[in-house]
Amino acid sequence: MVSKQGGGDSLSTPMMRQYLSMKERYRDEILFFRMGDFYEMFFDDARVASEILGIALTSRSKDRDAIPMAGVPIRSVDTYLPRLLKAGKRVAICEQVQDARDARGLVDREVVRVVSPGTITDERIIGEKSNNFIVSLVVPGKGLGLAWIDLSTGEFQVWEDARTGAAIAEVSRLSPAECVLPESLARGLDEHHALREVIDNVFLTPMPDWCFDADTARRTLTEHFGTRTLEGFGCEHMNAAVRAAGGLLHYLQETQKNALGHITRLRPHSGAAHMLLDPATRRALEITEKFRGGDREGTLLHCFDRTVTALGARRLRDWLLKPLVGVGDIRSRQEGVQALVDSGATLDSLREVLRGVHDLERICARISYGSANGRDLAALGTSLEALPAIAGIVGGLDCHFFAERVAAIDGFEELAARIGRTLVDSPPIPVREGGIIRDGFDAELDALRELSSEGTQWIARYQQEETERVGIPSLKVGFNRVFGYYIEVTNAHADRVPAHYIRKQTLKNAERYITPELKEFENRVLHARETAMEREYGIFCELRDAAGEHIPDVQLAARAVAEIDVIAAFAFLGRDRGYTRPIVDDSDVLSIEDGRHPVIETLLPSGEFVPNSIDLDSERPIVVITGPNMAGKSTYIRQVALLVLLAHTGSFVPAARARIGVVDRIFTRVGAADDIARGQSTFMVEMQETANILNNATRRSLLVLDEVGRGTSTFDGLSLAWAITEHITESLRARTLFATHYQELTELALTTPLVRNCTFQVKEWNDEIVFLRKVVDGATDKSYGIHVARLAGIPRGVIQRAREVLARLEAQAIDVHGRPAFAPPREPEDEADGEDGARRRALQLDLFQNANEPILQALKSADIDAMTPLEALNYLAELRRKLV
Ligand code: ADP
Ligand code: MG
Repeated sequence: MVSKQGGGDSLSTPMMRQYLSMKERYRDEILFFRMGDFYEMFFDDARVASEILGIALTSRSKDRDAIPMAGVPIRSVDTYLPRLLKAGKRVAICEQVQDARDARGLVDREVVRVVSPGTITDERIIGEKSNNFIVSLVVPGKGLGLAWIDLSTGEFQVWEDARTGAAIAEVSRLSPAECVLPESLARGLDEHHALREVIDNVFLTPMPDWCFDADTARRTLTEHFGTRTLEGFGCEHMNAAVRAAGGLLHYLQETQKNALGHITRLRPHSGAAHMLLDPATRRALEITEKFRGGDREGTLLHCFDRTVTALGARRLRDWLLKPLVGVGDIRSRQEGVQALVDSGATLDSLREVLRGVHDLERICARISYGSANGRDLAALGTSLEALPAIAGIVGGLDCHFFAERVAAIDGFEELAARIGRTLVDSPPIPVREGGIIRDGFDAELDALRELSSEGTQWIARYQQEETERVGIPSLKVGFNRVFGYYIEVTNAHADRVPAHYIRKQTLKNAERYITPELKEFENRVLHARETAMEREYGIFCELRDAAGEHIPDVQLAARAVAEIDVIAAFAFLGRDRGYTRPIVDDSDVLSIEDGRHPVIETLLPSGEFVPNSIDLDSERPIVVITGPNMAGKSTYIRQVALLVLLAHTGSFVPAARARIGVVDRIFTRVGAADDIARGQSTFMVEMQETANILNNATRRSLLVLDEVGRGTSTFDGLSLAWAITEHITESLRARTLFATHYQELTELALTTPLVRNCTFQVKEWNDEIVFLRKVVDGATDKSYGIHVARLAGIPRGVIQRAREVLARLEAQAIDVHGRPAFAPPREPEDEADGEDGARRRALQLDLFQNANEPILQALKSADIDAMTPLEALNYLAELRRKLV
């Protein structure tokens, strides 16, 4: 932690003055002040950081008012930096921007970047398989204006939507690392409940409102892109989106300085072309994350990730979260998959060639940041070299999808060749230490290299000559950093050392000397070596700049490769797991024959998953699924939702046959979701989510409801479930799967032909039950809960008692007071007979004739017209008192 330069700890040293003037401009950030191999922090920054990072707080003198300081070594910055960011800090990185050798006195320093969670680009921190988005948003009155950038890839998109819910779902899909917003909005977030909830755990960056001002924002963007308008990007008229984008870019310009060259275009996100999946749906379907958190295993993404490039892995994730809704777009992808499935071995060779493509998007980002090293450029070169082979393979397939992409990956031969010619095969990581440029590329470099390699021979010769001349057999010529070249003579021969040897260093058993001849040689060689390194660095930078010119094209090629990779993964899965191509059309059919759950199927031993079918259309769009616990209801309805989702991504699906009319949104709701983490009443959450469905679903949506209504008391829950389903049949008529343990719900099918009942087959055998996992038409009349409890290991006595209670319950239900008439006293005398018992039996539980029936009757027959207001009020109070 000792720096090479700078004075003591006094505030008046030049270095401290430099520090303080820097800190003046970065008051809110932690300032990493580069000193040699460390980033040093001082004063409060040092105190705060030492606490967060658990590193020592020191000072360089023992004075009482010494300046506190703490430092992190440059090479461990990627372990420390994320921890500061996680603790909600922003870090300003101040580098030495001048070579220490050129400095007279103090080295020039400059803050080169301000790092926050949304602006880290280091792959080791953010991972290669997902994006790291920084989102910006404005609330223009109605809805939201959005913009987002992934600095590590240069992806920059905008969107606006007058439907706040849809826009918020979009924010949540991006799961941003940081959110930039106008100061006024940040202050008033409480007024925007739903929005606040999705960005609750996100790192917020308020910026002055004027940055988001329409004119300023537009100017920020057009100046960056060097365009007159935003017409060319198709967002000229997206007012709110442009405001968000301008504010975001402004923030990045301030914090990333001039490293934004890889942000070459602005893309309006085509919200209308994609299916919107709200957060609850994504969670329930476990697309990228497990329902209860945890690792990726068991998610759809994990199960589907057979891409072979990082580019493809990120694109797959994007496709799964943003399924298409246009029949044409979907079919185009399907044709790509089909062509590869049909092509046999071509698929394998394509995937093999794709493996040779490195993360082009992130390499472009590093080139524009000026941080790309020799290895990055070499990776760029070999990736570009692989492109013609990819084009050759997919170009031969006679498929429109590929033809479109081939155009984008064409035309990099020259750049690839130039990189190949310039760089050695595997360049080292440091860019200023030589060894990067190929022999024979540059004559001057070759000459310099020869000079320094001649040096090695010269040394060998010199050592030999000196040994003979002075007659010391153990004389050695060596090199060290401090003294340069030296001659070493062991003490045993000290008396034979010639007079012109100049002593430089004394070791335990030897002395080291130099000679004028050796010194002169050293100057020549070292100089040659240094000049060679400088020359190499120069050539390297030229190459990097040349590559920089191609960034926009390389980004387009990267996109094409990513898409080809995902299609290849779909084809691979289709072939490997026996998937079929679904018919996707504009009908309102949802028909799947022998479908399988894509994830669970892979977790079970082969052949153990029981396939199930479904058949919905506008005549019968709704199915109520009952069946005992553990029968497979939840699995079945999620399976249907997943297959529909997959069909919209262009993937093939695990089924014997499928026909799916496009769906505009999939809604899934799981009753009484265990949402303790969000700190809300689970039932409240369940109802909010259900309200969201009823308000936003259309006839084209797919609704998947799992035990909705479970989070409250039986009567409440059942009534709600009933009313919700009825509403769906009457107003929405969307294709709906409702799994429920309320058997009463099956009676809905009696009231409307739109609803059909399904149940899961169960076999009873010797007092055991066997789940057949097979869906059949009809309703269950038994729930087998006690059987399941027994399987689960509930003690025998409890099971026995539960059976007794059940027998009573089935005979007698609930008494007028809502008390369980079914739980008789444990002693043999039974009071349930007689008049009382008969009354109870008359009040058997039934949806239409429940325990409150007498009150309803009373209410119906009450002569309200004949009552005074006060009488009416009293009557109301009395009725309420009687309520069960
Ligand atoms: P329910 O919602 O009816 O209580 P689940 O869908 O949770 O039942 O399924 C219970 C268990 O049965 C799950 O662990 C699942 O792995 C298994 N299962 C469900 N469907 C099938 C199937 N079609 N084939 C094989 N196993 C299944
Ligand atoms: Mg279930």
